[in-house]
Amino acid sequence: MSVWDDVVGQERVVAAFRAAAEAARAVVAARAGDGGQAPSARQPAPENADVAPAAVANVDTSAMTHAWLVTGPPGSGRSVAARAFAAALQCTGEVPGCGACKACRDVLSGAHPDVVRMATEKLLITMDEVKTLIGEAQRRPWTGNWRVILVEDADRMAERTTNVLLKSIEEPPPQTVWILCTPSADDVLPTIRSRCRLVTLRIPSADAVAELLVRRDGADPELAARAARASQSHIGLARHLATDPGAWERRRRLLLAPISLRSVGDAVLAAADLVDAAEAEAGQSTAERDAAEKAALLRALGLEEGGRVPPSLRAQVRQLEEDQKRRARRARTDVLDRAMIDLLSFYRDVLAVQLGSDVEQVNIDLSDAVAQVAASTGPRQSLTRIGAIEECRTRLRSNAAPLLAVEALMVQLRPQA
Ligand SMILES: [Zn+2]
Repeated sequence: MSVWDDVVGQERVVAAFRAAAEAARAVVAARAGDGGQAPSARQPAPENADVAPAAVANVDTSAMTHAWLVTGPPGSGRSVAARAFAAALQCTGEVPGCGACKACRDVLSGAHPDVVRMATEKLLITMDEVKTLIGEAQRRPWTGNWRVILVEDADRMAERTTNVLLKSIEEPPPQTVWILCTPSADDVLPTIRSRCRLVTLRIPSADAVAELLVRRDGADPELAARAARASQSHIGLARHLATDPGAWERRRRLLLAPISLRSVGDAVLAAADLVDAAEAEAGQSTAERDAAEKAALLRALGLEEGGRVPPSLRAQVRQLEEDQKRRARRARTDVLDRAMIDLLSFYRDVLAVQLGSDVEQVNIDLSDAVAQVAASTGPRQSLTRIGAIEECRTRLRSNAAPLLAVEALMVQLRPQA
């Protein structure tokens, strides 16, 4: 076993990270050889100075650098790959990323003091959060070889915030490594992009995803294969489908809903249903945590739950409530986006049938419905619908009122006389 086990279908990425982790060890060895002194303060070279320490001479240290940008489509496993790399950098085993040493295990479980991870559930990372990260990046490692700062949603930063980050990424302390993750390189400013080494994940094969679900999550092999295909190799969605019994039925209802719409009124009602369901699903995942956080804050402030909050402490309680509201919005946006991806897959299947293409169908379990829609419409209409779904996704991501965006979509998806 190793830390790379869960980085599925990404051989080139793993090779690049392995080489970097090897090179990082050589850098650490060279640093130790210096006794921590700056190059100018080194002792004069002895006469046989051309015989450099083997660990340094044989490894190309150019494979390692201080700033990384890990990109890949949603669900391809960016953050899993980034965390594996962080573990390999801290690893104390024989081969970097052994997965067995304490450092590897601590990084993977989120307990390593020298791997600072920032994953936001908000739509935007705040300036304060970035300043805190920069402060963390300035510290020397506590126990590890490197101070690793991992930002999982680097695309969720306003331009002003990014500019503050820029200097720290450009000239980090010698033992600091930044790892930024975004869906694509275009999601960060060119100034950031140009200072990072780019590592790009591809969409893993459905087989690789299915194998992961069986091995890691104990999913049934047949179900895992079906889930990997239906989710189009999106690892998170595939796991959801393979482990949540209600997920298939919800997906079926979602994909078949547009077919039965008879009027604009129906479309408006279906949109409301979809948004309500998204809210309920998102609420389920956040409600428990919200309550626990609020209770913890009240305790920390020395207050009773349900009691009166004195005016001097209200700002803190309000801040938490605001954060939680933002998180709920982000969770709802994510659920709706998943629905849009599912709808896209359905109309792509329809289009493939209409064009007589032999690409594999995503929605095998709904092939009757796909055939029916394909027969009753033309490719031009399918393209219009696919465009409408993409448009809706863009509007949802740009914080448009979800109900309006989904209503407009449903009206376009309803069967046209
Ligand atoms: Zn290890």
